Amino acid sequence: MKAKRAVASRRVWKIVVEDSPEYSLWVVYGPKLKTSHIVLPGVHCDCYDFLFNVIIRGRKSKCYHILAQEIAESQGKYQVVTMDIATLAKFILLQKLKGNISVWAFRAQQQLQL
Ligand SMILES: [Zn+2]
Repeated sequence: MKAKRAVASRRVWKIVVEDSPEYSLWVVYGPKLKTSHIVLPGVHCDCYDFLFNVIIRGRKSKCYHILAQEIAESQGKYQVVTMDIATLAKFILLQKLKGNISVWAFRAQQQLQL
């Protein structure tokens, strides 16, 4: 299943704001790290599947990104990436403008705290 594969291949990230760990953001990457989606745990995802099948058609209650975040958090299998607030703002802007944050993904990978 796609959600388990995302967890197993470490594509679920928790982004924590430097010096303010109470602010965090969950991101689930696609298989090639070319796409990514911001997940509000149990509530929302910015992917098309969530928009069409959850919000508009009401066919299901969550997309696989939300499911992957739940599995990852419950099993502790996620990567923690720390960013300062300015970097996080750019990260979110790029996510929204391009729908693709692979460039930032690779830069962020260098900051992984594992
Ligand atoms: Zn989604």
